[in-house]
Amino acid sequence: MTGARPDVTRADFDPAHYLYERYLDRGTRSGALALYYALKPLVPRSAQLALRRAYARRQRRRAFPAWPVEPILVRHREEELRRRIRASVDGRAPFVSFWPNGHRFCFVLTHDVEGPSGVDNVRRVLEVERRHGLVSSWNFVPEDYSVDPALFDELRATGCEIGVHGITHDGKLFQDRDRFSAALPKIERYLEQWDAVGFRSPATRRNAEWMAELPALYDSSFPDTDPYEPQPGGCCSIFPFFFGDVVELPITLVQDHTLFEILGARSIDCWVEKSDWIAEHHGLVNVIVHPDYMIEPERLRLYDELLGHLSAQAGSWHALPREVARWWRRREALTIAATPDGGHRVIGGDGEATVAYAREVDGSIAFQLDG
Ligand SMILES: [Zn+2]
Repeated sequence: MTGARPDVTRADFDPAHYLYERYLDRGTRSGALALYYALKPLVPRSAQLALRRAYARRQRRRAFPAWPVEPILVRHREEELRRRIRASVDGRAPFVSFWPNGHRFCFVLTHDVEGPSGVDNVRRVLEVERRHGLVSSWNFVPEDYSVDPALFDELRATGCEIGVHGITHDGKLFQDRDRFSAALPKIERYLEQWDAVGFRSPATRRNAEWMAELPALYDSSFPDTDPYEPQPGGCCSIFPFFFGDVVELPITLVQDHTLFEILGARSIDCWVEKSDWIAEHHGLVNVIVHPDYMIEPERLRLYDELLGHLSAQAGSWHALPREVARWWRRREALTIAATPDGGHRVIGGDGEATVAYAREVDGSIAFQLDG
């Protein structure tokens, strides 16, 4: 999509068009990018990165989705609330709070372990999180390398979650329908074997039309906006949403590899800017960091800095992805009823959900999240 930005106030505006990436023209994947991935195995690593960086400058100029922030669905939600507020008698629109217990925003930490050097580095990354009292999910590739079962036990014992990162990391899972169908029973078996409920596709390859078939509680393979991945695009959402029963937890911060290798960043400014915007709009900060790229002490220091920044924000709900997915499913079933005293209460749930209110203040939509 190029040219004028979509008008979020239009009556026929359809969020699914963005959530399910229907705005992408699948037939016109960039020839240059396809060529890059075809030739990549033949090119020395130093030259790969130089080519990739040169191409990144071009990718960043894409008009839609904007990067690092694409606000279209946040704006659309505000427009819907504005309509409800203006139609209400008391100038406010009640809704079930985004997060449990009146929390302002949510953050999760996730890791994709790409290969043996990543496996060897798990404990160093874990140590950084432990210092902040944080927990994370670890997605492993079942058929590319072996993992000592003691490492799984250790991760679980520290409160972390295990997830499935494809079957192999060849990026072909979504290449054709037959391959995907044939992979589903295998994915189910590995999820069971690892007592896991979450899935992330290698290289964030994905197809919105098929995700509902994943035998998982949640998927986390859709960036909100990412022009740099082998499959560029994004669901434009900083909130979870559904593919059938499968909860999607969108990846909302730029990946470590993109930030440090492709864009050559030497600071976490981009992470801070984006996570602050998400927190301001009450969304989900979903971090991906690969232990494979966290080898140098400087990288670990930058990750430590991000964790310090996220921990310092007031009103955050820090949870495991599986907890967020379960909450989002429960929340979906809740409704709101008016009470005789002119207030509202949540119907269903077990007390963790609160009524939030949207109001219009000086033309902007403001939230009161704690009922
Ligand atoms: Zn991966």
